[in-house]
Amino acid sequence: MSGFVERLGVPLRARAEITTLQVNVGLACNLACRHCHVDSSPKRTAADENLSEETAERILGWLANAPSITTVDLTGGSPEMNPHFRRLVTESRRLGKRVMDRCNPTILVHRDTTGAEPYAWAPAFLADHGVHVVASLPCYLEENVRKQRGLTAFPDSVAGLRRLNDIGYGRRPELRLTLVYNPVGPSLPPPQQQLEADYRRVLRDEYGLEFTELWAITNMPIARWRDDLERRGELAAYEQRLLDAFNPATFEGLMCRGQIHVDSQGRVHDCDFNYALRLPTPSTAGRFLWEIDPAELGGREIATGPHCFGCTAGAGSSCGGSLAS
Ligand code: SF4
Ligand code: SF4
Repeated sequence: MSGFVERLGVPLRARAEITTLQVNVGLACNLACRHCHVDSSPKRTAADENLSEETAERILGWLANAPSITTVDLTGGSPEMNPHFRRLVTESRRLGKRVMDRCNPTILVHRDTTGAEPYAWAPAFLADHGVHVVASLPCYLEENVRKQRGLTAFPDSVAGLRRLNDIGYGRRPELRLTLVYNPVGPSLPPPQQQLEADYRRVLRDEYGLEFTELWAITNMPIARWRDDLERRGELAAYEQRLLDAFNPATFEGLMCRGQIHVDSQGRVHDCDFNYALRLPTPSTAGRFLWEIDPAELGGREIATGPHCFGCTAGAGSSCGGSLAS
């Protein structure tokens, strides 16, 4: 018993109709950030942690028969590193779905051991398909990004974002570029609107960068971030902080209420955090996405745990940023 549902005061169920399919295509990433809630890294390339062609096709087959799904939200790892990423994008768009790419912008300028840039195709491809790019940039200050993501992460992020800007992202209204902030330490994000103004000022003045909007996301006390907090003796205080900041006004916007999540093997969860914790959707446990009628996902019970207080603390947090003012 997590106490989360008791605190909510109502059972946590999905809305009658779900509109988003979030796909975690795999755990491979060129970075290994301290706050990563799925423990991604360059070493996570195993087949049982990354999407195969067969699974990609099965997911797309399901999507073709899921008319209520209007958005496909691609996450990872670094989604572009998966060889079937482009197929997922083109087919989802052909089916008339909006597509979001949760992009770590350093991947756009990443060099392999030969000095080549294997993902240099990404900005033009994303723009050609009208993909909404959701790019993580944990801070506008180099020092803070270095602490979370490594030595060259900030200049590489700036270079990656510049390529997106050059092709029109963040400058043309149809090429939406959202930046994502998360705190560097065990604190809640500051107000999203104020933070957005700070990001805009610094990134524009110092680097000539533009973006559409900023989403502020709370760090979940799970996986690598949990280990980090534990090592520093800060875990209990952080969990208590989330609990103390419980805000019932966040309930309406909880992302699990409007989505279903599928992992790289086709297993179904309510959100990426539950996936990281291997906490399956209760009513679908043991079945793959393509074995589930999309209609039965509406109104389903959602699996919860103490980590859920990360979504309801303060202004709330979701894959779409803050939930309440
Ligand atoms: S937080 Fe994002 S960029 Fe960092 S290791 Fe995890 S998936 Fe990669
Ligand atoms: S952690 Fe997942 S299941 Fe829990 S409230 Fe947040 S989105 Fe919903």
